[in-house]
Amino acid sequence: MTFPAQAEFLVIGAGIHGLSAAWRLAERLHERGEPVEGRVVVVDKDGIAAGASGIACGVVRNNYFQPAMRRLMAHSVGVWESDPETFAYHPVGYMQISPEAMHADVAQIYREQREIGYDSVFIEGGQDCTRYMRRMFSDWQAQGITSVLHEKRGGYANNTKSIYGLAKKAEDLGVRILTGARVTGFVREHGSPAVRAVETDRGTIRCDHVIVGAGPWVRDFWTMLDLPKAVDIKVGENEFHRDVPMWRFWQLEEGVLQVPPETLLTDDGEMPPVLHVDSDAPLISDVDGSLITEEMWGIYYKPDWHFNGVQGGASPYKVEKDADAVEIDPYGPASPEFVSSDKFAHMWVSALAHCHKRFEGTMPKYHREPSGGIGCFTPDSFPVFDRFHENVWVIADSNHGYKMLGVGRLVADEVMSEPQELLEPFRFDRYARGELHPTSHSPFPWS
Ligand SMILES: Cc1cc2nc3c(=O)[nH]c(=O)nc-3n(C[C@H](O)[C@H](O)[C@H](O)COP(=O)(O)OP(=O)(O)OC[C@H]3O[C@@H](n4cnc5c(N)ncnc54)[C@H](O)[C@@H]3O)c2cc1C
Repeated sequence: MTFPAQAEFLVIGAGIHGLSAAWRLAERLHERGEPVEGRVVVVDKDGIAAGASGIACGVVRNNYFQPAMRRLMAHSVGVWESDPETFAYHPVGYMQISPEAMHADVAQIYREQREIGYDSVFIEGGQDCTRYMRRMFSDWQAQGITSVLHEKRGGYANNTKSIYGLAKKAEDLGVRILTGARVTGFVREHGSPAVRAVETDRGTIRCDHVIVGAGPWVRDFWTMLDLPKAVDIKVGENEFHRDVPMWRFWQLEEGVLQVPPETLLTDDGEMPPVLHVDSDAPLISDVDGSLITEEMWGIYYKPDWHFNGVQGGASPYKVEKDADAVEIDPYGPASPEFVSSDKFAHMWVSALAHCHKRFEGTMPKYHREPSGGIGCFTPDSFPVFDRFHENVWVIADSNHGYKMLGVGRLVADEVMSEPQELLEPFRFDRYARGELHPTSHSPFPWS
């Protein structure tokens, strides 16, 4: 096939967001009875699922303290549920298991989930929480837990399989996905801010609309689009945090315990929900009895046949480098710099053993292959979904995004001139206007 000289809709990135947007754009053209071929083109420097979407743990949840995030997740969970088979989606539910310091926050999440009709159960009090957890796992032994939010919807999906399923949906509707084409710049003409063509290392593609779904590489597109490297954030009537860097990277630490995935089935032999435990109980090493931390810690985990074991992660850590100095490529487990550490393995397996007796003494089964990867975060760690220079939509999910299967679709509707209320709280100008999302007591920057 020849390299296209033009496309009406040019999507950059064959990850969850770019492909979701392309799929919806094609659907919209079909609904209008118009042809798709040659009009919607996705370009990726590498391949389908080559970025963060291809290495994500795959957790799909609603549990967010920020109402706008929760509404958006409810929308996305609906999209996952629309075709579980193609999306390799397992609707097993999700549990947020928390200490007293998070009780009030999680109670609020539960109340607001009820208001939006999102099915969940809330258990309060130490004894009731232990009883609830032991009905599922008789060896449950976590200390200091005083609330359990059990979301009946959500669960997880198999990372690469779901992205390939999404790509197939888009291609079946006539979308062209061009892999091995790296975007190197944008062409603007006649003093207009709008992008008229996208330059790649294989040729230039003229276009009417551009959607950037570049995951951690958003930093580079932001620069190519001449957008500001720092922002002023309004925090009071006349008070600003000045010159806050637009991007910073965090390292996501994940790993696999190579035990049969069945090890984590419930006592009834059922698939458990994805489990997320935050705790302020002292975390003691399961290897040598030493104290790992007395600070708040958190882990998530699930049995996973795709990873062939119990897979999960812990709180990420900040990459202490200026964002411009961070080497994103080679990405994920291929990176010599950003892979999960021995310290992570020690902490995560010890935390599993803190929660379930069945994981005591399992450290030797930790899979030592490189895993994890980096994410590019905004100043407040929440997404920016916005239009710039008239015809460029940027989907910068601040690493919240594998679960956000519905976001690309909403962006596509905006490209088709239908503003989306669900995206409004995520505009770039919220920093200047001081319209920030509330923050919680969770140890994770994404809750
Ligand atoms: C280890 C890890 C675990 C995670 N787990 C979860 C989870 O359980 N649940 C969850 O919701 N989120 C999770 N996330 C976050 C989630 O994976 C990301 O937020 C999401 O996948 C980003 O999707 P994307 O489509 O924006 O980007 P990506 O999937 O990164 O896709 C971007 C694409 O752009 C391409 N590209 C980059 N530069 C160029 C260029 N110059 N020209 C052409 N193409 C280019 C890349 O090759 C890539 O394929 C996790 C992230 C990591 C790192």
